[in-house]
Amino acid sequence: MQAHGSVLITGGAGFIGSHLSERMIAEGWRVVVLDNFDEFYDPAVKRENLREILGHPRFRLVEADIREPGAVEALIAAERIDAVVHLAARAGVRPSIADPLLYASVNLVGTTAVLEACRRQGVGRLVFGSSSSVYGNNRKVPFAEDDPVDNPISPYAATKKAGELICHTYHHLTEIRVACLRFFTVYGPRQRPEMAIQRFARLMAEGRPIQQFGDGTTERDYTFVDDIVDGILRALERAETFHIWNLGGSRTVTLKSLIAKIAERLGVEPNVECLPAQPGDVDRTWADIGLAARDLDWAPTVDIDRGLDRFTAWFRRQSLVRRSG
Ligand code: NAD
Repeated sequence: MQAHGSVLITGGAGFIGSHLSERMIAEGWRVVVLDNFDEFYDPAVKRENLREILGHPRFRLVEADIREPGAVEALIAAERIDAVVHLAARAGVRPSIADPLLYASVNLVGTTAVLEACRRQGVGRLVFGSSSSVYGNNRKVPFAEDDPVDNPISPYAATKKAGELICHTYHHLTEIRVACLRFFTVYGPRQRPEMAIQRFARLMAEGRPIQQFGDGTTERDYTFVDDIVDGILRALERAETFHIWNLGGSRTVTLKSLIAKIAERLGVEPNVECLPAQPGDVDRTWADIGLAARDLDWAPTVDIDRGLDRFTAWFRRQSLVRRSG
């Protein structure tokens, strides 16, 4: 069965990319993942992410860096790629403040390299994984796609905004159809280990203190990974020109309440260490998803309570496997 053609997923061994790869294979695509298994978190975790699909006849894994001259282009040519989902990036706000040059290199130079390879090979469609961080400390809520995004407050946010800009340039020059999707804090099974939900769960399960930055009133709009995957697929199908769409749960949860919800599910009393707010962290994220609803017929289907149930079920299974292994 090859209902859809061949897709290249950069960063496909990561959290979101591995879920997307599984789903696209299930839907009949031929999936080529390009990933350099960087050291941002344990590469063994990323290998595990792909375990289910590694031997599938419509799946191929290529270990390479998007910045390697000619690497992406050669792959697009050899695999006759029809569409690209570009998720490879250095993620995370705080580490981007520690190493901004690396973030600029991977997220900006790397994104340009992917777009240039698409231009040279005539790829017609691309989805770019952008981020709610581009909104900075936007006071107007919820955040809409036409709000000003000229005030990013971390190098990571600035590279994501820059990525959207260079996507627009390539759309203008080559008419490639592009969807820049602004993901709002994504969670679910296989979430990146350093992100709040998984980090808190791990520390609580080990009986260690968790660090709460700020007074606990900061708010995030959490989005379950299956909803993000659904939004990526719809955007890939429906993008006609150049688009920016928010993909978010469109409900906010305070940090305090998030900690309480995780603790309740793990049956523990959390030991919370209060620390000052961190530079680069925004006070609140909240997605206006009207545009994605109108253009993509998309709406989130998993709320935070059901999503955390599914996350903790996965987390428990993982912990058991680790202990018995
Ligand atoms: P992730 O770190 O799990 O996945 C990124 C993958 O890219 C990793 O497997 C990594 O090895 C790979 N990679 C990094 N640099 C590379 C390079 N130079 N060449 C090839 N591969 C490289 O992160 P994720 O949470 O799955 O995020 C995926 C994308 O979505 C990223 O672009 C991220 O910025 C964006 N995003 C994520 C979230 C979220 O909440 N998870 C929110 C907004 C945006």
